[in-house]
Amino acid sequence: MKKILITRKLLKLSEDKALKIFDAKLNSIDELYSQTKLIELSKGCDGILTSITDKIDEETINKLPNTVKIISNFAVGFGNIDLKAAKKRSIIITNTPDVLTDATAEIAMLLILGAARRASEGIEYVKKNNWKWSADFLIGKQLTGRRLGILGMGRIGKVIAKLARAFGMIIHYHNRSKLSSELEMGATYHDSIKSLFSVSDVLSINCPATKETENIINAKTLEYFPKGAIITNSARGDMIDDEAMINALNRRKIYALGLDVYKGEPNLNPGYLNMKDVFILPHIGSATKETRTAMANLAIDNLDEFFKTGNCKNKVN
Ligand code: NAP
Repeated sequence: MKKILITRKLLKLSEDKALKIFDAKLNSIDELYSQTKLIELSKGCDGILTSITDKIDEETINKLPNTVKIISNFAVGFGNIDLKAAKKRSIIITNTPDVLTDATAEIAMLLILGAARRASEGIEYVKKNNWKWSADFLIGKQLTGRRLGILGMGRIGKVIAKLARAFGMIIHYHNRSKLSSELEMGATYHDSIKSLFSVSDVLSINCPATKETENIINAKTLEYFPKGAIITNSARGDMIDDEAMINALNRRKIYALGLDVYKGEPNLNPGYLNMKDVFILPHIGSATKETRTAMANLAIDNLDEFFKTGNCKNKVN
């Protein structure tokens, strides 16, 4: 039986599945392992099932025991793992695409709606019991007929486009490569972020965190947007220069912001906390029972496939 380390506590069903297939070391108290502890616990293991909270940087990878041949990340994103360092040590990295697409697209729509319709302010008013209805109370922005820019029209971006069309939005997008017209479904392609941002009444960030996309929303690129645009991020916090964003919100260049992810999370720039036009969620894009179960099953299946065949279809390095 192959020996694996599962770094975070999973749903019980998923842990039961892992225990049937592997000699699995679980984390019953869901401790956040330090890099040293993770290395120590992986001794004698053939693989590790990691989560996005595990920073598997070059130093950690270089210190992993030689027995570890695969790291199966419980996420579609893999910005927490140094892929090159892993490749150098012939450790394969896998992810869990597709199964979390719908749940994350739902959260992206919640961010768009929450930011556009001033949900944070509304919740505060109700909790403080100091509101009364009037014709001009909490006037927000309606989505009907507005242009939605999708930065990263991949699996999640395409589902957001589908959902947003049902709200009457007009879809624009930027990827490094244009999609076929069949996949575009009427969306307009922009070959640069400048072109996309300049038509985005609302922008949804859905590209991966890479060196190329780090701080892609910054003081310069924020100026490309129409005045009063809404920005939402359900991908990774690394894409936004927070200080520049706070400045743009204060100047009303940006009308509202919706965030599920943060640079350095679970911490976030404290500047966001008291801004009434910021709608914030605690990285819950994939947090439904169906999706978390499917993600864990896939992360386990990725390990199993690799141990049986020496390869895995969800390999990313
Ligand atoms: P995906 O299918 O790989 O889509 C990513 C898209 O981004 C692709 O269309 C890709 O097109 C585009 N892209 C990549 N690099 C780019 C760049 N430098 N500039 C512009 N576009 C670029 O990934 P997905 O499954 O939709 O997931 C997207 C991201 O969502 C993940 O990386 C993850 O970080 C995040 N996520 C967050 C949550 C959450 O809980 N909030 C949950 C799931 C996923 P090209 O290759 O043509 O550029």
